[in-house]
Amino acid sequence: MLERSMSKFSAPNFSKSYFFAKSFCTTFANIFKSKPLVNYPFEKNPLSPEFRGEIMLRRYPNGEERCVACKLCEAVCPAQAIIVRGEEGADGRPHATSFQVNMTQCISCGLCEEACPVEAIALGPNYEYSTETKAELVYDKEKLLSNGDRWEDAIVQRRDAKNP
Ligand code: SF4
Ligand code: SF4
Repeated sequence: MLERSMSKFSAPNFSKSYFFAKSFCTTFANIFKSKPLVNYPFEKNPLSPEFRGEIMLRRYPNGEERCVACKLCEAVCPAQAIIVRGEEGADGRPHATSFQVNMTQCISCGLCEEACPVEAIALGPNYEYSTETKAELVYDKEKLLSNGDRWEDAIVQRRDAKNP
């Protein structure tokens, strides 16, 4: 009889009770504290300059497309999300005739941005690009360039923040 009642106070039972009491106390201690809630989408948390969001193609300040269709980004992309076609232009400079990025395949690794010799492709700060269909997430060159035009200032600010 004594042995049976002593078994209720065994080490495993005691540690279970201890952790239950501790977790209960922690919950109770925090239940009335103000919560760090953000009223999204009206409020947003600050983003790291390293954040890798929606992909874009950039231009030079004179409006010329940076991309020289070297296909390094296509070669380095582990998800095979990029397809580039290019040709030499009238000025003898190569340029992309078509550029496709499938955002449903992209894993936001940033390797394309690192591989690009002319800083043409970039992963910007935009994370609000959800769509109703997958097809809308297959970006063509026009879409990528319009993303670049929209986010160029943010890209420059982020680059400056990374390399002060
Ligand atoms: S971020 Fe990575 S996965 Fe996405 S397109 Fe660039 S290289 Fe490919
Ligand atoms: S985005 Fe950069 S790496 Fe990709 S094809 Fe154009 S120049 Fe080459």
